[in-house]
Amino acid sequence: MASPSTLVLASGNVGKLREFNQLLAPLGLDVRPQAEFGVQDVDETGLTFVENALLKAREASKISGLPALADDSGLEVDALHGAPGIYSARYAGEPKSDERNNEKLLASLSSYAEGQRSGRYWCVLVYLRHAEDPVPVIVQRSWEGEILAHPRGNGGFGYDSLFWLPDQGMSVAELPSETKNRLSHRGRALQGLAELLKVAHG
Ligand code: IMP
Repeated sequence: MASPSTLVLASGNVGKLREFNQLLAPLGLDVRPQAEFGVQDVDETGLTFVENALLKAREASKISGLPALADDSGLEVDALHGAPGIYSARYAGEPKSDERNNEKLLASLSSYAEGQRSGRYWCVLVYLRHAEDPVPVIVQRSWEGEILAHPRGNGGFGYDSLFWLPDQGMSVAELPSETKNRLSHRGRALQGLAELLKVAHG
């Protein structure tokens, strides 16, 4: 049974579910995966992270009848005019593959020298009180870095082995996961959302 403080997460990713619960449980919020309510993934037809996060949150809230949370994220590279952007997960086409995405990113940047390979991860979080909520809570955070010419490290996922953090002197894939959760676009967006929901629910 869903309690009044149950939220549905518009994702099936267990890692995201754990991170969301860690930050929101102290506020008395219980975040449940959308599969528990029979919510299917929607087509991400928006042209921005925020539109896609809204589409996902709205569908999850409509089907579950609960407040919903969704996130959408990706990598923006300046030399590539913002690519892979909202297409980060499927940059090299279907089926989605981190390995092929990374190969395509390296090939696309092969003519760019160090100093011309700046980029950032983006994470957008959307919270809806109900499916027709006209005032969504939206938090957007970025994480600046540079795209390496060769992968480094084995941690993380996606583009992490190619994402160099000048102030840490290592790639995200070399960073301990607790440090990544504290510094990352997603971690900081979640901290920002928790602050806003504290005002709403606290
Ligand atoms: P989604 O938000 O789950 O749709 O993920 C979008 C895509 O952006 C992922 O599949 C990755 O390719 C990329 N991405 C987003 N956040 C990260 C991150 O923290 N590390 C590495 N890749 C990321």
